[in-house]
Amino acid sequence: MSTLQEKKPATMYENVMQQYNQVANLVGLNENIKKILGITNNEIIVHFPVKMDNGEVKIFTGYRVQHNNALGPYKGGLRYHPTIDVDDAKALAMWMTWKTSLAGLPFGGAKGGIQLDPREHSLAELERITRRFTYALGDNIGPDQDIPAPDVNTNPQTMAWILDTYMSTKSPSSRSHNNHIVTGKPVGSGGLEGRDRATGFGVFLTIKLYLASQGKTLEGKTFIVQGFGNVGQWASQFMVEEGARLIAVQDAHATLYKEEGIDPITLTEHIQPRKGSIAGFTEAEEIAPDDFFGLECDVLIPAALGNQINQDNALSVKANLIAEGANGPITTEGEEVLLKRGITIIPDILCNSGGVIGSYFEWLQNRHGEIWQLDEVMQKIEKKLTENFKRVEKAVEENEVDWRTAAYIIAINRIELAYTQRGIFP
Ligand code: NAD
Repeated sequence: MSTLQEKKPATMYENVMQQYNQVANLVGLNENIKKILGITNNEIIVHFPVKMDNGEVKIFTGYRVQHNNALGPYKGGLRYHPTIDVDDAKALAMWMTWKTSLAGLPFGGAKGGIQLDPREHSLAELERITRRFTYALGDNIGPDQDIPAPDVNTNPQTMAWILDTYMSTKSPSSRSHNNHIVTGKPVGSGGLEGRDRATGFGVFLTIKLYLASQGKTLEGKTFIVQGFGNVGQWASQFMVEEGARLIAVQDAHATLYKEEGIDPITLTEHIQPRKGSIAGFTEAEEIAPDDFFGLECDVLIPAALGNQINQDNALSVKANLIAEGANGPITTEGEEVLLKRGITIIPDILCNSGGVIGSYFEWLQNRHGEIWQLDEVMQKIEKKLTENFKRVEKAVEENEVDWRTAAYIIAINRIELAYTQRGIFP
């Protein structure tokens, strides 16, 4: 037997901690504040029973990790996936804290989800699971406490069930004050026009702004997308509208390639609403999954799960620009390889922040009892995101660092200032 131990790939939590510690040391973050931000405030794990369609009762495990709320209520998505665990939720919650801070929003960071494969459940079961999870979380969430939103395998319908369940636990007279318990709701239930496309739009916009800073446009550029859900679909649509060509798409089930370009709208129509898969799309050729990252293209958009680009496949990447639609799609080792090769990475906490910016507008809309129009919402998202992009661009130049480090510097400095001004109780 070999005495050599195989090195296990770093987890998302190890990656986010490495990113955080590196920048905390770089900016000389106050040691006491460093301790506070290096740990999550609350880690809630609930086990709850749900009756399945066949009468059997199953126990599910749900998570809600609240990392930090120095700047405002906890904010972050809920993910339904077989691999979600408390460590993943901790990593994703931390990223939310940096994201909301960088975006200049009055929110902290949280994340959660349920360990399950939604494809194994009927819609009726998913509704009961979601409602029972909401009930189990109780007042650990709330419109001024912790505000969930959609993430992988959750959608506006999931948010509507959470909203309805949460409101049902309140007295009739206060129910309507709780509309902003979740964001990403269907428009008919108090959701925001444009929240559906906000994340994908932000991914596209940051790519467009980056290219513009290099004196380039999207016209004729080729791009590939991993993950064709909410983020991947909308980002692709905006990119193609601006003249870019989508030459490959990968999801959990298939990898498609077409040199002349895949039409994202036709591909979106091909996907069934719930058990969506790009497999079987006849207008493109199916290729081996392992060939995906090595395809010749200008821009790569990872928009699926974390830890997809690592030190092994980073060497094969041909794109000059990676725009992180997903949270944490690149391991720290993978990033080292990419940066050495001169590839620019627009980091998740900037690139996909259009979603939480949209969520903030939804929260405000509900709080003020207003209803905003689509064009107004998109203009507001574009303005805010462009300002944030410019601040990161400036920090890249001033500090002579990569884009992720620059974004972290801004995010961490803002929270440090809040702690310095207020002090630490008691
Ligand atoms: P989604 O559930 O709508 O879509 C996920 C997509 O990823 C699907 O196409 C799925 O098939 C694909 N996928 C899953 N596992 C895969 C694998 N192993 N290989 C290739 N593809 C795989 O989810 P979404 O809301 O689009 O979220 C995608 C990513 O973007 C996540 O990392 C999420 O945290 C991040 N994000 C989402 C939002 C939002 O507003 N929805 C906001 C910010 C960040």
